[in-house]
Amino acid sequence: MSPTAHVVYGGAAAAVIYPAAGVYSLVFWAASFLIDLDHYIDYVYHNGFTDLSFRKMFDYHNALDAFWFNPAFLNIEMFHTVEVMLPLYMLTAWTGSTLLLAVFFGFVFHIALDMVYLHGNGIFFMRAYSIAEYFMRMRAIKEKGYLPEEIFDAVFSRLLKNPHARSGCSKSSRPMLLAWVPRCVEERGMRRILSIRRSDERR
Ligand SMILES: [Zn+2]
Repeated sequence: MSPTAHVVYGGAAAAVIYPAAGVYSLVFWAASFLIDLDHYIDYVYHNGFTDLSFRKMFDYHNALDAFWFNPAFLNIEMFHTVEVMLPLYMLTAWTGSTLLLAVFFGFVFHIALDMVYLHGNGIFFMRAYSIAEYFMRMRAIKEKGYLPEEIFDAVFSRLLKNPHARSGCSKSSRPMLLAWVPRCVEERGMRRILSIRRSDERR
């Protein structure tokens, strides 16, 4: 889901809870979109910390859209994992902090929206929701002969050639905020046939 959509949906939810939560509804709102800062960790990790540009992070994630249906592709975003959410929940319960509670619910709201969005696009399992799950599934992907690193090589070589490369998805005629139907639905069929395997397996 786009950052704009998260800001809008989070803002609407914050407005609803404002009478009961007061200023903490603002904390909830901020948390409901700032959780996506982990996409920056994803970007710098995959480029080996060679580029710290915040703007290019968006190009990177847009370019990755083209691999949604690639069997070699598995996504993980650190703050969207049970290994982060569970300790956050425990810390919230232990401290009894209303501030942390607002952050926790902001994160939960965001992750729930992401799940609905991913499910709606038929890619619920493209993302790992646990770090342990990620490493296990990644091992299975590699054992099947897929090469996940080639996806990132392809994305970065494309970004280097054209620093503002987009995924090539056609823009939907629908407004961005209503884009439950994927922006790239037309390319879906094409993406299904995209897969990267070891060349010796192709033969
Ligand atoms: Zn997210």
